[in-house]
Amino acid sequence: MKGYAMLRIGESGWIEKETPKCGPLDAIVKPLAVAICTSDVHTLWEGALGDRHDMILGHEASGEVVEVGSEVKDFKPGDRVLVPAITPDWNSLEAQAGYSMHSGGMLAGWKFSNFKDGVFSEYFHVNDADGNLALMPEGMDPADACILSDMVPTGFHAVELADVQFGDVVLVIGIGPVGLMSVAGAALRGASRIIAVGTRPVCIEAAKGYGATDFVSYKNGPIDEQVMELTGGKGVDRVCIAGGTVETFEPAIKALKAGGKIGNVNYLGSGDYINIPRVEWGVGMGHKDIRGGLMPGGRLRMEKLASLVSSGRLDLHPEVTHAFHGWDHLEEALFLMRDKPADLIKPVVVI
Ligand code: NDP
Ligand code: ZN
Repeated sequence: MKGYAMLRIGESGWIEKETPKCGPLDAIVKPLAVAICTSDVHTLWEGALGDRHDMILGHEASGEVVEVGSEVKDFKPGDRVLVPAITPDWNSLEAQAGYSMHSGGMLAGWKFSNFKDGVFSEYFHVNDADGNLALMPEGMDPADACILSDMVPTGFHAVELADVQFGDVVLVIGIGPVGLMSVAGAALRGASRIIAVGTRPVCIEAAKGYGATDFVSYKNGPIDEQVMELTGGKGVDRVCIAGGTVETFEPAIKALKAGGKIGNVNYLGSGDYINIPRVEWGVGMGHKDIRGGLMPGGRLRMEKLASLVSSGRLDLHPEVTHAFHGWDHLEEALFLMRDKPADLIKPVVVI
């Protein structure tokens, strides 16, 4: 089969590989649509996961089951499925402890294009099919279904980590496709005000649609100072971080009220330490929590998140700004995600 692979750091291309084998609990899936992620950019051009040779890229897809293992109960060939980016081993001790995304070691629930070939290929392998796949709701657009792989669960996870409550004032730092889902998630959780940080006009428009009420540009001076001005010096109850760098925690803590919580899902690609401003962290006693996490995967979560789309509570169309048709456009879509033109939120390739 053909797959689009990372050949080494900074180099990619189409290669031939053997079609993956299906174990007793597994499924082999043919993509219906795939999406490009900022994480693919980090993996390929920044070596975020270390060097990988001839590893097929991609972890966001919707697909059709072509084969299932002898022990798989709930899926059969021909089923159209949602595929989470994170596919844990559900019988692991980490999963039993409530952290399935770390099954087999920290971050090891992330298997596609990390420990095994990803989804940018004619066929891909899904471990623990009953635990990880979900049926695609009737009538769902396969391109929208890709957004459920990673953007929705990750953006929403920042909201869960920040523990957003009714009436909270929430700061969302970063409004790319992930942060937009944090805006949407915070609105669904009952935030009274959502202050969004980003500059791309297309993202600002989409954020307004998802419920952002105020905007701050990180290019116009320190984020915390702008937030303090907007909130009359009070600060915010919660911060979701979906963009920025190790430096971003400093304004996040400064903008946060005592007793506030920060939920980070942003990948921190450089710098050895995160600076926590001592005084604004309440000299160690401010009850300002900092939590960071890889998105949870699994079937139950996929089904629940998909139900928000089916019921009309969550519209994923604004996320997909660039839809291509056919594998021939995959490389173009990948390069687009690297270059992030002003009109881009998320590129999807429908197969
Ligand atoms: P994008 O690059 O599309 O968006 C990043 C956002 O952050 C943009 O709004 C950008 O603003 C803003 N930003 C850039 N620099 C700064 C800064 N210095 N301070 C504040 N804001 C800034 O990324 P994605 O939405 O695709 O992904 C976000 C992150 O989430 C990535 O690091 C990705 O790897 C990570 N991720 C994490 C996952 C997890 O499970 N934890 C899963 C998937 C992704 P502008 O409008 O100017 O571009
Ligand atoms: Zn992703």
